[in-house]
Amino acid sequence: MAEYEYETHEYDVVVVGAGGAGLRATLGMAEQGLKTACVTKVFPTRSHTVAAQGGIAASLSNMGPDNWQWHMYDTVKGSDWLGDTDAMEYLAREAPAAVYELEHYGVPFSRTDEGKIYQRPFGGHTTEFGEGPAVQRTCAAADRTGHAILHTLYGQSLKNNAEFYIEYFAIDLIMSDDGQCQGVVCWKLDDGTMHVFSAKMVVLATGGYGRAYFSATSAHTCTGDGGGMVARAGLPLQDMEFVQFHPTGIYGSGCLITEGARGEGGYLTNSEGERFMERYAPQYKDLAPRDYVSRSMTMEIREGRGVGAEGDHIHLNLSHLPAEALAERLPGISESAKIFAGVDVTKEPIPVLPTVHYNMGGIPTNYFGEVLNPTSRSPNRIVPGLMAVGEAGCASVHGANRLGSNSLIDLVVFGRAAAIRAGEVVDAKSPVPTPNQKSIDAAFDRFDGLRHADGATPTAELRLEMQKTMQADAAVFRTDKTLKEGVAKMAEISGKLDDIKVTDRSLVWNSDLMETLELTNLMPNALATINGAEARKESRGAHAMEDHTERDDKTWRKHTIAKVKGSKVTLSYRPVILDPLTKEDQGGIELKKIAPKARTF
Ligand SMILES: Cc1cc2nc3c(=O)[nH]c(=O)nc-3n(C[C@H](O)[C@H](O)[C@H](O)COP(=O)(O)OP(=O)(O)OC[C@H]3O[C@@H](n4cnc5c(N)ncnc54)[C@H](O)[C@@H]3O)c2cc1C
Repeated sequence: MAEYEYETHEYDVVVVGAGGAGLRATLGMAEQGLKTACVTKVFPTRSHTVAAQGGIAASLSNMGPDNWQWHMYDTVKGSDWLGDTDAMEYLAREAPAAVYELEHYGVPFSRTDEGKIYQRPFGGHTTEFGEGPAVQRTCAAADRTGHAILHTLYGQSLKNNAEFYIEYFAIDLIMSDDGQCQGVVCWKLDDGTMHVFSAKMVVLATGGYGRAYFSATSAHTCTGDGGGMVARAGLPLQDMEFVQFHPTGIYGSGCLITEGARGEGGYLTNSEGERFMERYAPQYKDLAPRDYVSRSMTMEIREGRGVGAEGDHIHLNLSHLPAEALAERLPGISESAKIFAGVDVTKEPIPVLPTVHYNMGGIPTNYFGEVLNPTSRSPNRIVPGLMAVGEAGCASVHGANRLGSNSLIDLVVFGRAAAIRAGEVVDAKSPVPTPNQKSIDAAFDRFDGLRHADGATPTAELRLEMQKTMQADAAVFRTDKTLKEGVAKMAEISGKLDDIKVTDRSLVWNSDLMETLELTNLMPNALATINGAEARKESRGAHAMEDHTERDDKTWRKHTIAKVKGSKVTLSYRPVILDPLTKEDQGGIELKKIAPKARTF
């Protein structure tokens, strides 16, 4: 058994992650007087949320008529009828209050001439239950909305005496023998000390796992650590096959150009200079949802109408927009286009390609953020002591496809909901449970095994192999054949974790070891993704199967539940929640409005 000395810490609540979701949860917990720690592997304001550009959706009606029912309808349709209806209602209804709350906390939103919060159009956001024109629903702070939100929430959390443990890497959850989460084991990166946090509630807010793929818009730190910890605790992941490709990653670097660029009037063209989205989505054109636009771009490239020497990408045009508008509304992406594509957006188009951007799947939760461990008898069974929020979680509001600007609102609405729930279920007066020593020892053993790993496969090499396989075999379009091959390849690749080679054995700033821990987290996420995809014989949202081109509600309107042990993935299914929170005759949405139908734009 590995012997490590460790420091102990006791809290009512420990939040792992300091992105938008983690900070909103931390702030809400601290505001209620719960003793709260936030543990984060990067400095809070360096979390990936800082990179969110375009904005945050809420039906404020500042630019024209809008209401929560329209927002809910768009979210249901955007999810391709896989989202849980209660959670989607909660999101759309709570969104305006959550945005005003951010405003009052101090988020410097862009303003209209009358001084209201500025809102821009975004893909899939419409009026009149998808019958009317596009709506301006996405609240923005220029093209730096995530940056503005993250800095504000960090300041507010400090003001409310939340305690931060910065550059602490959470290794594993501490679970009691009867399945309750009791805390988390951490490694402090800058001095190599080890820490055991025990808590009455642990909230995972660790973000997505974009880095399971070769080309992604997300930060290198987006390695699905929460999903990895949950899988090792024998708990499931949900709907992992649904991976969003953003239409406009810069060709080559993958750096994101926000959908706000199309919201402000930008459009896509092929090698013939044609605005091809008019053919695929006659009503909403370039503002159709992301899965739709990404597929259309891929079809253009496949049919020989891609741009560039290799005909392998598409152009995003902004040069027809007034230079002042670009400078005021899209300053950040003008700079990114210059740095990463060498393009002056006032004169030339930006070369773009669909790029992995967001994980609809994650740790299953109810709409309070409580983690679920479903059984066939009890599909909504709760794991005591554990919550998940933000991109790490799956509530599920995004179903098979997320609408742009619906993630930032998901972070704050459900970060806040988790805090409200914790206020109800965590008793601040009761003692913190004594953490299960067996579980702590197991975490240190795993850590020590990796620290001294002396196999033949360097971490970077294995990670690249995984990323290339996922990129090739679980892409925008998927076939039975590529997925079958991908499943076999990924099982082999993940098996090589037993042969991993770590060269640095130290404990201080050992990035080799940290990246190895991250790889052990990426792997179960990737395995669940490709296995879930291989099993799902239909096309829905971001999961587009060439051999099964139709959505099949009869068989497949259900959530995939994946348990990952080593290289083995066991799948089961959980029913989609069809009932909204509010009954129709009590002011809820008209049920016939959200009944499944063909998804065209
Ligand atoms: C480039 C880009 C632009 C985007 N633009 C928009 C937009 O305009 N609108 C929108 O709605 N959505 C947007 N999204 C999506 C949205 O920004 C993300 O889904 C969201 O920010 C995720 O937030 P989060 O709080 O869940 O996680 P993150 O912000 O990724 O934060 C994760 C946190 O977890 C911590 N962490 C992770 N693992 C560990 C560990 N092992 N130990 C300790 N700490 C750990 C990290 O330190 C970090 O603090 C964008 C995404 C990208 C990549």
